[in-house]
Amino acid sequence: MAYATTNPFTGEVVRTFPDATESEIETALAQAHETFLAWRETSFEHRAGILANAARILRENKREYAEILTLEMGKLIAEAEGEVELCAQMLDYYVRFGAETLKPRFLPAQGFGDTDVQLVNDPLGVIFAVEPWNFPYYQVIRITAPQVTAGNVIVLKHASNVPQSALAMVDLFDRAGAPKGLLTNLFLPHSQTERVIADPRVRGVALTGSEAAGSIIASLAAKHLKKSTLELGGADAFIVLDDADVEKAADWAVFGRHWNGGQVCVSSKRLIVVDSVYDRFVARYREGVAKLVAGDPMDPRSTLAPLSSQKAADDLKAQVEQAVADGAKAETLATAVPGQGAFFQPTILTDISEDSAAFHTEFFGPVTQLYRAKDEEDAIRIANDSPFGLGGSVFSRDVNHAQQVARRLDTGMVYINQPTGVKADIPFGGVKNSGYGHELIDLGIKEFVNEKVVVVT
Ligand code: NAP
Repeated sequence: MAYATTNPFTGEVVRTFPDATESEIETALAQAHETFLAWRETSFEHRAGILANAARILRENKREYAEILTLEMGKLIAEAEGEVELCAQMLDYYVRFGAETLKPRFLPAQGFGDTDVQLVNDPLGVIFAVEPWNFPYYQVIRITAPQVTAGNVIVLKHASNVPQSALAMVDLFDRAGAPKGLLTNLFLPHSQTERVIADPRVRGVALTGSEAAGSIIASLAAKHLKKSTLELGGADAFIVLDDADVEKAADWAVFGRHWNGGQVCVSSKRLIVVDSVYDRFVARYREGVAKLVAGDPMDPRSTLAPLSSQKAADDLKAQVEQAVADGAKAETLATAVPGQGAFFQPTILTDISEDSAAFHTEFFGPVTQLYRAKDEEDAIRIANDSPFGLGGSVFSRDVNHAQQVARRLDTGMVYINQPTGVKADIPFGGVKNSGYGHELIDLGIKEFVNEKVVVVT
């Protein structure tokens, strides 16, 4: 797909970018590798200084950075500013904890002295990062901040609809004082993915995106014996138990399902409400969604963003039509939606049969899969009956009990009494078809280091 900025609110193609040529790919990899060889010798203080500069530049220019996000993929301007701040916080984290996270560990091995056996953390080299459009800066910083702290360098293939966001991230590191090649963007066509992954200078592959892309990229990584991490889709269960604060839960669900235009891997996609509080919850939820104001994402009065592209809106419509053809009921909510832009009328799906595709699919936009559970056991059963295992939520006034329910959910993350969060200092990752490996904190940084054993005899 060609790299282009298309404003999802106006439909205007603002700018297009040519695909990278073979010679640009070779130059980028050669530069990245050369930079790695020097960068791996730098001190943590030096690396932290550059990350701190990047955090400061983001905060000082929050609005300018945010406007690029809103222009390219349509998120609300306040959400875009929030993403810029979140990126600064991730950078802050590694400035503060990076060196500590990577310090050598001494192992208590039998027959050796206390400091004879150590695990040191060496960088691997060039890491190839394939990233999605829904959080165009967050996704790049989430891999770049830990990996450059570890001494690696990044070659980025960003989503084709956010080319200016990709360039903004490269420019950010340039302004922060990073050497050329620490973060390199390539407008890479799919046909050249294997060429990059196969290159011996590339030592790891990190992908965030759909199951389909994850499967292709991970297969290529395996073929060329490169370590990979996959952060894939999700269909988070949002469980409301009978002792929940129902109004609070419904208000959180409105947010959890609709922020970022409903296009978050950890959106609260499947609302699973126990029978005893279902009617109260749904009445409040309907009311809350109907009050959302879909509009120009640059206008601070808008509270519901368009989807990232008209194609995304068309695909979602087709998915809902298929769900209805398979027996689900679709109720559109009374949210005001303008005539222009890639908007999708918020919709609730009920009566989704357990053997239909809709039951096991991710809807990437403001479509709510709503389930009435007989009781708590039934809610847990429905929650776990999913190919995905990313995040999830449990709402209950009894936090201890909610924690026990959380332990029974087959996911990588569970938040009690709020939708799954996206934080700078809490790790991110899923199980089942949501992928493998972690991002953030020490778990993320260790994905692409060589934990080398050094033994003194
Ligand atoms: P996508 O189509 O899989 O795209 C993600 C990235 O993969 C893009 O850069 C895309 O490039 C690239 N890609 C796709 N197919 C490729 C191929 N055959 N060869 C090389 N690159 C390829 O996903 P999306 O629609 O942008 O993002 C939505 C999905 O990402 C959802 O499933 C969402 O849940 C998931 N997601 C997961 C997380 C997480 O942390 N778990 C976070 C955010 C999103 P092009 O644009 O050029 O196709």
